[in-house]
Amino acid sequence: MVPALICCEQMEGFRFRCIPGCTSCCTRRGYVYLTEADLHRAAQYLAVSPEEFERNFVYRTKHLLRLRIPKHGGCHFLRNGGCSIHPAKPTQCRLYPFWPELVESPREWARETKTCPGIGTGRLVQIGTAMEKAGRMRDAYPFLYGKS
Ligand code: SF4
Ligand code: SF4
Repeated sequence: MVPALICCEQMEGFRFRCIPGCTSCCTRRGYVYLTEADLHRAAQYLAVSPEEFERNFVYRTKHLLRLRIPKHGGCHFLRNGGCSIHPAKPTQCRLYPFWPELVESPREWARETKTCPGIGTGRLVQIGTAMEKAGRMRDAYPFLYGKS
């Protein structure tokens, strides 16, 4: 059952604010996918070559790039309670929680509050803005969203 409050809210937009000190989305199970531009940006931020960054942190398949998962789980770049590559973090991290599978489904948006305590709080994000961000996700990861 989708909470009525969230259904009504989505008629005008989505409430969201990132909660200081929270790292829930960085510790959840799942993969962090990268675009080629993400890889280069993160490497530059860490002052290493793209090749070195890829060797140390990236798993590449025919269609996708993703961060390797450290033995202890989570993300290599989660340090001291925050993202150590924040200015250069991957596209999916920058656009969360405005992912197509969340903003296009009131049920999934409501369910995501279990992971993200910032959903449903803070300022109102207009539907058009949320959908534009979701579109950027689709553009960044065409293979994940069935575009190729
Ligand atoms: S789970 Fe939500 S509130 Fe927490 S760090 Fe991620 S985006 Fe911010
Ligand atoms: S790259 Fe940064 S924002 Fe993305 S999951 Fe890792 S620590 Fe979190």
